[in-house]
Amino acid sequence: MPVKLNTQSQFIGKDLSGVTFHHIEIISYAGMFTKPCGAKVPYWNCICKKCNAPKIASGSNIKLGKVCKCNRIKHGHSKRGNWSALYQCWSGIIQRSTNKRSTFAKRYVLRGIGVCRRWLKFENFLADMGPTWRKGLTIDRINNNKGYCKSNCKWSTRMEQSHNRENNIMLKLKGEVHCVSEWSRLLGIHANTIRARIRRGLSHEDTLTRPIRRITD
Ligand SMILES: [Zn+2]
Repeated sequence: MPVKLNTQSQFIGKDLSGVTFHHIEIISYAGMFTKPCGAKVPYWNCICKKCNAPKIASGSNIKLGKVCKCNRIKHGHSKRGNWSALYQCWSGIIQRSTNKRSTFAKRYVLRGIGVCRRWLKFENFLADMGPTWRKGLTIDRINNNKGYCKSNCKWSTRMEQSHNRENNIMLKLKGEVHCVSEWSRLLGIHANTIRARIRRGLSHEDTLTRPIRRITD
């Protein structure tokens, strides 16, 4: 078999008959084909074991699983101009956690907030988070200093998410630094009161020391 060529394929010089790769069973050598780039590569007669379609393909395409269309997973979420909410959510995560030039880079990728390897593939994100998603929910990280992965993410309403963000504000008083819920516990001031005061632009000291107005008659 004249299979010896200058290609990157690990299949150089091997007779691949009988080998099965990504559901593609290689039947026999099909001859040399010239690719558009001019390189000559051996092609193989094969059969897709999923749909029984006969195929002729190069070793590298077989290796990459690019032989038969039926091998592609169709999730139907990324149709051009018609992105599903979940797909938009996922692409937002990828943007925030991988694009160093995005508007949010300082809050995410430059702070080390990344995304797990598994979620680089939309199908995996869909499998992990899809079943619990409901309309109107947004992705929320449980620990704000950790990145996006299944164990650190949950779906929240926008309200919960902004509370969560405000909870992560660290307030300083007399040299002590705690988050909103911790100060609430320590001082007996309702967390909502603290959040409202922060929103009104009060200083940390005022937020934590102003007496709580009580309605008395
Ligand atoms: Zn197929």
